[in-house]
Amino acid sequence: MKELVIASNNKGKIEEIRSMLDGIQLLSLSDVGFTQEIPEPYDTFNENAYTKASTVNSFCGKNTFSDDSGISVHALDDKPGVHSAYFGGLPRSDEKNNIKLLSELEGKADRTAHYKAVICLIWEGETHYFEGRCYGTIAEAAAGDGGFGYDPLFIPDGYDKTFGELPAEVKNKLSHRGEAVRKLIEFLKQQ
Ligand code: IMP
Repeated sequence: MKELVIASNNKGKIEEIRSMLDGIQLLSLSDVGFTQEIPEPYDTFNENAYTKASTVNSFCGKNTFSDDSGISVHALDDKPGVHSAYFGGLPRSDEKNNIKLLSELEGKADRTAHYKAVICLIWEGETHYFEGRCYGTIAEAAAGDGGFGYDPLFIPDGYDKTFGELPAEVKNKLSHRGEAVRKLIEFLKQQ
């Protein structure tokens, strides 16, 4: 079975990716003894994803991938984007992020947004990127406790419920991460 390290400590992300990556032995950071925080100082998803994957790959020497992702809200000039994890301030909190997003959107007619995920894979010393997007709108109030992050606020196009309310299988089929993971799987099948 192919072995891959996932360079993330985000439990929501890891669970989603694990449920989609059948037939791959997914190793966590603790499985490979990596205990540091990896800074994400850049303004692009690609650079942050590369930093996470390459730092862990250099540490353990194993094929490694990371996911850098976020939500861009169109009426807020695509904020918080790459800074989604700590939009509501530090320490990171999904609840603070969602409260801030609702308050910044108060009175705005355009509530459209999109999620974006970039997976960076370091495979046999070569770097590969896989991207996914998912378009939708921001609800007036949080609903549901499925998924993670902004999911209680995000209604994907074509649906009238948030990702917090929809089953995980539906989110995986529609989501930015689902699209990026399917591209990763296609690549791995060819190796
Ligand atoms: P990072 O990629 O670890 O820098 O953080 C990504 C952040 O974007 C998460 O902490 C969430 O706030 C947000 N995010 C990314 N993908 C999702 C998703 O699928 N659902 C909800 N929030 C997400």
